[in-house]
Amino acid sequence: MNERKTYMPDSAMAIYAHPDDIDFSCSGTLARWADQGAEIYYVLCTSGDVGIDDPKISREEAVKIREEEQLEASKVIGAKEVIFLREPDGMLIPTLELRKKLVRLIRKYRPEVILTSDPTVVWSSNTYINHPDHRAAATAALDATFPAAGQPNLFEELEEEGLKAHKPRKVYISTWNEPTDYINIETTIDKKIEGLRKHKSQMKDWDPEERIRAWAAERGKGKEMAYAEAFKVITLESDEYWEENKGKVVPDL
Ligand SMILES: [Zn+2]
Repeated sequence: MNERKTYMPDSAMAIYAHPDDIDFSCSGTLARWADQGAEIYYVLCTSGDVGIDDPKISREEAVKIREEEQLEASKVIGAKEVIFLREPDGMLIPTLELRKKLVRLIRKYRPEVILTSDPTVVWSSNTYINHPDHRAAATAALDATFPAAGQPNLFEELEEEGLKAHKPRKVYISTWNEPTDYINIETTIDKKIEGLRKHKSQMKDWDPEERIRAWAAERGKGKEMAYAEAFKVITLESDEYWEENKGKVVPDL
């Protein structure tokens, strides 16, 4: 036990492009929060319908397979609900329509934290171009979070559905680029690996164990954490205000 404090939200919504993106990016953190009683919502903009490289499998069949895999994976993590928006895989665009769909979800579930990927990453090495769906989902998620979800005069027609404006408190952007926060996932890395194994159509013969441990160890280096996930965290409502009024901050592992 050390003196380090870790922020624990009561609820969090992860908004990503494809089934398995959340499990690769932030499921160790989500599992920790779920273990503490947080309500966790997975939002998948697409159902990965072109992500199974087999001409014998139709897009409709791929959707079914990948949604089932995602449901199993999120069960391992302890998610309360998984929402599929079923936008076309490989062609995701951050339209106003998509923004409105996400605003509707944010106002309905009222999460304290939003997690998404980094919309600024176009490439991350000389062998990797970031999937355009990842950038699109992240852009749509951030644009829905601020200012739209919390601004009563934007998408005010959602009031007719009983959905009032809601301001998420923090945004966690999973990124390798200048992260600000490292979340210790020593106690949940096994769940992260088990969750990833549920995405059988994506893993095929590849076992995530070794690679995931290596990536998480790399992120924990110099942070006194055996395994970590890294985020750029944007706080829309101050820590001081939150701690005084409604939040909880618990000792780290
Ligand atoms: Zn993806």
